[in-house]
Amino acid sequence: MIIVLRPKTTPDQIDHILERIRELGLKPHLSEGVHRTIIGVIGDENKLQAEPLQAIPGVEQVLPIMKAFKLASREFKDADTVVMVGKVRVGGGQLAMIAGPCAVESAQVLEEIAAHVKAAGANILRGGAFKPRTSPYSFQGLGEAGLKILRDVGQKFEMPVVTEVMDPRQIPLVEKYADMFQIGARNMQNFDLLKEIGQTKKPVLLKRGMSATVKDLLMSAEYVLAEGNPNVVLCERGVRSFEDSTRNMLDMSAVPNVKGLSHLPIIVDPSHATGRPDLIPAMACAAVAAGADGVHIEVHSCPEKALSDGPQALLPKQYAEVMARMRQLAQVMSKGW
Ligand code: PEP
Ligand code: MN
Repeated sequence: MIIVLRPKTTPDQIDHILERIRELGLKPHLSEGVHRTIIGVIGDENKLQAEPLQAIPGVEQVLPIMKAFKLASREFKDADTVVMVGKVRVGGGQLAMIAGPCAVESAQVLEEIAAHVKAAGANILRGGAFKPRTSPYSFQGLGEAGLKILRDVGQKFEMPVVTEVMDPRQIPLVEKYADMFQIGARNMQNFDLLKEIGQTKKPVLLKRGMSATVKDLLMSAEYVLAEGNPNVVLCERGVRSFEDSTRNMLDMSAVPNVKGLSHLPIIVDPSHATGRPDLIPAMACAAVAAGADGVHIEVHSCPEKALSDGPQALLPKQYAEVMARMRQLAQVMSKGW
């Protein structure tokens, strides 16, 4: 930790800061330059993080040297993490091709969609049973009935299943039926949820919040890791911006950015990022080219009848086409699924 002092900080103020650091059992190293004085602090940075040092008169900036996220960082673990979702490997060159409808609507519709995405090569089936809808009057999901349908259809097509959990109270139920938890964008900073999920061993697909920085995303992953669950897959799904011709703005640089900072796998969801079937294929391919560990796409056999996110769903035929293109790109990247 480095503490940068304001110009013209008085000797009394400096003494006070040094005293506070020593009180915490840490060792300050004073370095007085011509224009600036800085204090290097050696010891457990966690002790300092909890302290509002910035509030002490004379302190201009407090800079951590170690990353705020530790367990998620590349420094902590150099090799790429591989997360097992059922029998599917995610990371380390293996791509998660997650597909399915936004919501589980009925066994019949899900079966139809699952048959198509499986044939196209998807290896994980998705479908929401608890839906975080902007309007309380919109379809909220089938709850446990939806989870049962998802599990049964997943078993029928031999695909592990991922579904969203919105509240810590839903964890035992969702855990019973799903192979992977999804934490949605709206819940990325639901810290109680993150902590509880961290107590399980199930893999988790952690989506980036719509106003979250890459660092925020990694800090949220850190919550899960810190509780003992190492099976986190991150997901870039676009952030809110001034651009209003797409649903969100896809931050593709988050993929190599996260890869530099963290050993965790990161996939891309061009469906929620763009909200537009005409843009999804190009962005899906771009994700593979950028080095993503997978691509998450919403598919519906009849988007006009879908109970949620219909307008952004790809038709099965469109999905098969983009999967064929991604397969070629994956080869170029020495990856596969
Ligand atoms: C979803 O996957 O259907 C969803 C609601 O995604 P997000 O949390 O990214 O908006
Ligand atoms: Mn959706």
